[in-house]
Amino acid sequence: VLDRTAFYPRGGGEESDTGIIIIDGEKYRVTNVFKVGNVIVHELDKKPSRTSGKIKGILDWNRRLALMRHHTATHIINGAAQRVLGPHVWQMGTEKKPEKAHLDISHYKNLSFDELKKIEELANAIVLENRPIHIQFMSRTDAERKFGVRIYQGGAVPSATLRIINIEGWDVEACGGTHLPQTILVGPIKILGSKKIHDGVIRLEFVAGEPAIKYMILSDKHLYDACSIFRVQPEKLAETSKRFFVEWKRQRDELQKLWGFISNNIDKLILDKVTKIQNKTLLLERIDVDLKTLLIIISRLKDKIDNILLVSTSLGENIFAALGDQYFIEIIKEALAQLGAQYKETKNRIFGKLNAPSNNLLTLVRKKLGYTT
Ligand SMILES: [Zn+2]
Repeated sequence: VLDRTAFYPRGGGEESDTGIIIIDGEKYRVTNVFKVGNVIVHELDKKPSRTSGKIKGILDWNRRLALMRHHTATHIINGAAQRVLGPHVWQMGTEKKPEKAHLDISHYKNLSFDELKKIEELANAIVLENRPIHIQFMSRTDAERKFGVRIYQGGAVPSATLRIINIEGWDVEACGGTHLPQTILVGPIKILGSKKIHDGVIRLEFVAGEPAIKYMILSDKHLYDACSIFRVQPEKLAETSKRFFVEWKRQRDELQKLWGFISNNIDKLILDKVTKIQNKTLLLERIDVDLKTLLIIISRLKDKIDNILLVSTSLGENIFAALGDQYFIEIIKEALAQLGAQYKETKNRIFGKLNAPSNNLLTLVRKKLGYTT
């Protein structure tokens, strides 16, 4: 506890400052600052050897600047949201961290992309206009008379004297947090998105200053990466990816039709491949269809053939499905253990994905059953 301090204690949704305190030439890291009643408590990383005398405090200025930018941006965005959405918009809560911030507003439904962009554009215009931000202490009655009850955006303030933060011609609020003296110092504002947190309360997430620039660079990279895949300019990306998506769905439907044809005509296609071993009929075959179709095929054949193993290499995956007696299933499981696989098993059925080429399973099972070729 110090007689006076530049460290801002956690409050009003804003995180506390951090930094260094030097007592008698010895440095201590300030890890947290908070208020207990009217007393500001500085939490240090270790117990100081002396607790009185002259003390020097050094703020982590980068962190403070980021917090001031996010805090000041909150007021600017609040003013912008009221102008875009209507006077029913009030601030319901806020959080300001160095890396990002959010503002909760009273509004009946989540915001559209256009509404968000309107608020963002307006907020950035106010930044660029470089409006001065005045801080003054006023009595409650004077402040209410001059600015109205809209000053209570952060909730009711108990004291008789209010600290009024006035962004000239834009937003006036009673607030105890840290702010910048001019809007231009906020830097660019990017609204990341909005969501409904409960009935009548919408949360706007945003970044200002350095994190906003980082966000824009990262968004550009995502766009660049996506454009590189399709080899198009950004303005063509939506159209091109839609065209690819529609084409992909069409081809998938065609493929499914083809697989449907195979499973419907499977008797004619492979029944001549059925052999007999120890009085049981056996089918070991590769048919390149998806797993769903493989399962349909084996269930179609189950009354005609005792033991069936079908493998497939389809859409980049090696899959298999088998049906048969206990002895046959055991042999397949031995082979799977050798090759590596993820599979599911029901009483007489086993199917899944192989970690090896699908032909390897056929070869291995053939060998275990005593085939020489
Ligand atoms: Zn404030």
